[in-house]
Amino acid sequence: MKVTQHIKRAKGKTLFSFEILPPRKGENVNGIFDAIDPLMEFNPPFIDVTYHREEYIYKQHDNGLLEKVTTRKRPGTVGICAAIMNKYGVDAVPHIICGGFNKEETENALIDLDFLGIDNVLVLRGDAIKSEGRFVPDPDGHSYATELMQQVLDLNQGKYLHEEVEMAKTNFSIGVAGYPEKHFEAPSLKSDMKYLKQKVDMGAEYIVTQMFFDNQKYFDFVEKCRKADIHVPIIPGLKPLTTLNHSTILPSIFHVDLPDDLVDELDKCKDNKAAREVGIEWCIQQSKELMEAKVPCLHYYTMSKSSVIKQIAEKLF
Ligand code: FAD
Repeated sequence: MKVTQHIKRAKGKTLFSFEILPPRKGENVNGIFDAIDPLMEFNPPFIDVTYHREEYIYKQHDNGLLEKVTTRKRPGTVGICAAIMNKYGVDAVPHIICGGFNKEETENALIDLDFLGIDNVLVLRGDAIKSEGRFVPDPDGHSYATELMQQVLDLNQGKYLHEEVEMAKTNFSIGVAGYPEKHFEAPSLKSDMKYLKQKVDMGAEYIVTQMFFDNQKYFDFVEKCRKADIHVPIIPGLKPLTTLNHSTILPSIFHVDLPDDLVDELDKCKDNKAAREVGIEWCIQQSKELMEAKVPCLHYYTMSKSSVIKQIAEKLF
């Protein structure tokens, strides 16, 4: 079932959902099940699975020469989605990204997802790889989420890459990302909003936000979206801080601010255990306020570590 249908069915009740990462190359799917099992009691109607591109590494040979090789650290999104649907009977939402994939590879992944009965995709551009510094599309890939969306929309119309005739139509519902604190590359929130509206006008049915730690940023973002004629559901994404160094790592990786009150609380913490308690309590209070505001769903970034999310969900669902 589509994410938007789950939201409609809930009739104003806030849903619980979460995102997991595929395990590192060489690990098996049991780690994923171990992360999902404790959260099933909160009845997630859908579970997101992130998508990861390959990265470059440099291998030093005995003769001193450096060889550039590629490695995919977290393969398996398509297979994990199938495993989730089979084991738990809930909808899996695979993320698909532009970076690192050409159009043909993307089409093949989408064909497999459709074949497995997956109705939803979260369409994203993907980030730059560390060694490149800025986002570089694959030579035969897409530069922006809108271009990748167009490929999904074409498949929904039965238009495949190398086929002259119309083929069986896929039926993907598309979700996209939104940034309450602006995407870090966008020159302004207004410009970022223009492209977000383009994604929605093209057919994105819902938005999932980047994590934020100040609910006012989410409320302001929703207001701005509505003023810009963006009327699809906007699902807040939440991530609890769990270590002391998260207070510097998360802002630098995800380009989000921490409110002064949260920073002050963290400054008082002597160790990670104390920081984790602060992070959990902050996330519970954020979640409560968002539920009171009747958000459609609370979507947690688990980083595949579910014990913290379970502690939070127990207080809410
Ligand atoms: P886009 O919508 O393409 O926007 C990227 C930037 O370009 C923005 O600054 C936008 O304003 C601008 N822009 C958009 N269209 C145009 C245009 N036509 N011309 C000029 N500028 C334009 N990354 C992963 O690698 N794997 C994942 O699974 C993953 N999951 C995520 C889930 C969520 C909910 C979120 C919020 C992010 C996720 N990311 C993931 C990270 C995401 O890929 C990055 O934030 C990426 O930098 C931007 O992706 P996007 O889809 O928002 O890009």
